[in-house]
Amino acid sequence: MAETKMVHSPTLTYFSMLSLLTLCPPFVILLWYTMVHADGSVLQTWDYLRQQGLQGFLEMWPKPTAVAWKIIACYGVFEAALQLWLPGRRVEGPISPSGNRPVYKANGLAAYAVTLITYLSLWWFGIFNPIIVYDHLGEIFSALIFGSFIFCILLYIKGHVAPSSTDCGSSGNVIIDFYWGMELYPRIGKNFDIKVFTNCRFGMMSWSVLALTYCIKQYEANGRVADSMLVNTALMLVYVTKFFWWEAGYWNTMDIAHDRAGFYICWGCLVWVPSIYTSPGMYLVNHPVDLGTQLALYILLAGILCIYINYDCDRQRQEFRRTNGKGLVWGKAPSKIVATYTTTSGETKSSLLLTSGWWGLSRHFHYVPEILAAFFWTVPALFNHVLPYFYVVFLTILLFDRAKRDDDRCRSKYGKYWKLYCEKVPYRIVPGVY
Ligand code: NDP
Repeated sequence: MAETKMVHSPTLTYFSMLSLLTLCPPFVILLWYTMVHADGSVLQTWDYLRQQGLQGFLEMWPKPTAVAWKIIACYGVFEAALQLWLPGRRVEGPISPSGNRPVYKANGLAAYAVTLITYLSLWWFGIFNPIIVYDHLGEIFSALIFGSFIFCILLYIKGHVAPSSTDCGSSGNVIIDFYWGMELYPRIGKNFDIKVFTNCRFGMMSWSVLALTYCIKQYEANGRVADSMLVNTALMLVYVTKFFWWEAGYWNTMDIAHDRAGFYICWGCLVWVPSIYTSPGMYLVNHPVDLGTQLALYILLAGILCIYINYDCDRQRQEFRRTNGKGLVWGKAPSKIVATYTTTSGETKSSLLLTSGWWGLSRHFHYVPEILAAFFWTVPALFNHVLPYFYVVFLTILLFDRAKRDDDRCRSKYGKYWKLYCEKVPYRIVPGVY
């Protein structure tokens, strides 16, 4: 059976699911339109909609064109090929709720390097100009919105008729199954992992490709790249590089180990990541703010520090588990809780919970530097418009909700051991505050 996701009341859960299913697609288009055609001004878009009404909104929505489909298809096929064929070491994922252990090929960093080198070379040698991507961005997002929706319907059908493993099941409700997904790690054949493709190789990879695209667009339009854009692009690239450096670690996180392949994760990574996560850079293309070298450097360093701390939190937890609690944490033997739990197949297993280091400050301290890093790659846009900050606000809400979902899941998994952890580490995210 599918793990129940109703952390909030059923009414609130249905309301938020239906709202996200219906509101996210038009929001992607509104955000793109505002950034690219309305000077980044929410008021300008609002005025347009007030004057033109629904008809105006429909006219604003770009139709997916052949060029858009071709760009998406070339990119998707290229990434799928790299995922399948680049060499990489064999990595075992964490034990799933049904007691399975998925196996992956860790070739993310190589795929990342090949992708960026290929993209920059295509531009440098005049074979393909990335500004074509920027100039068709609306059509690409539109095609992604519809294409990914169909993709999620196919995932839903696959979950019913051809699940890849026993980590699959229905909640008995079509909307919940479509929204949260049916399978934990659906595959095509034995080796092609669909969530690795949607989350890492399509979604996260598109973040770096689009960050470069925005930079190149500004360069080609103005003959130079403003320092604000350089800081934004550099920080986003450091973040995505960190992600691929640590990709095998990502396979132990909630997205992969707990959230099933449905609209929430897959549509989110295929559409929301390329459009919303990259939006501060999309704004900067037409707003080349000059920060001055000193301010630009301070922002860059602050952002890199936050990305490093976020990385170190994830690394600390994973090293702690990998060494079975034997490695040092901040130079000392770690303090820990040995927690037992029962899998859905009735087996008793045990896990270690770290209660010192970053994980002793609060139960989800790693979200603090994650949010601050996003702030630092947005702040080069300064404060003329509010929309570039949408991603930071969205991320804060997402991570606060995620911390609650994770706490609830861990409480039901570990019972009294989680209670003990909460007594030892009472704050959920911000030490001393929340
Ligand atoms: P993690 O999966 O990394 O951590 C939560 C899990 O870790 C829990 O479910 C539990 O799993 C285990 N755990 C919890 N407490 C402890 C402990 N004290 N000691 C050892 N293990 C523990 O969280 P996330 O997936 O949320 O985050 C991973 C990374 O991704 C972070 O860097 C985060 O900032 C980033 N992120 C970014 C997002 C974005 O949109 N930009 C969105 C979400 C995350 P178990 O069942 O194994 O015990």
